[in-house]
Amino acid sequence: MPAAKPRDSRRVHAILDGLARAYPDAACALHHRNAWELLVATILSAQCTDARVNLVTPALFQKYPTPAAMARVSAESIEPDIRSTGFYHNKAKSIAGAARRLVDTYHGQVPDTMDALLTLPGVARKTANVVLGVWFHQAVGVVVDTHVQRISRRLQLTAATTPEKIELDLQRLLPRERWIDYAHLAIAHGRACCVARKPKCAACPIEPLCRSKDKTFSTV
Ligand code: SF4
Repeated sequence: MPAAKPRDSRRVHAILDGLARAYPDAACALHHRNAWELLVATILSAQCTDARVNLVTPALFQKYPTPAAMARVSAESIEPDIRSTGFYHNKAKSIAGAARRLVDTYHGQVPDTMDALLTLPGVARKTANVVLGVWFHQAVGVVVDTHVQRISRRLQLTAATTPEKIELDLQRLLPRERWIDYAHLAIAHGRACCVARKPKCAACPIEPLCRSKDKTFSTV
């Protein structure tokens, strides 16, 4: 695994520090009180805004406060509660299936390892990384969602196009103690400034560090 060159390393630190200064409150925007709620909210957030998920989850968590409570009902009976988050049929199957597996195999608790999380229906590395990083404070990997993909590519931290390869590149380049933080910062930056269409480069806090061909304004 090649180490980052010193010049790369200085640039990476400058990017991380610039983003951290610009978004000091960057954090997971999904409302949750425990690992179970975070797991469900993260499954619901696929192809949906966090704000929309946060509208749906209070009533959902009141009805099904634990995996055991959720495991008692069918996927179909969850669907009306999560319909507005989109893809509700598959999401209901994932949540009901995950609840059942948690009860059957993990004593009704959300496990704190990547291998165990990946055995839950509907849970891939992104969801597992969110739960591990945000709830368990374990930097096992880097959360790669659409914002992280776009920002990482624009900042030339990766040239890869798949989440798996992007995550590997980020793991090689970023100091491990910044893995969790980086995803929060990239997501905040992607929402506020480095939007998909017409990024707001004139207002970008790290513009001098960016060589993206997507730039709408440049001083370098
Ligand atoms: S300069 Fe523009 S493209 Fe580059 S990170 Fe900033 S907003 Fe994104």
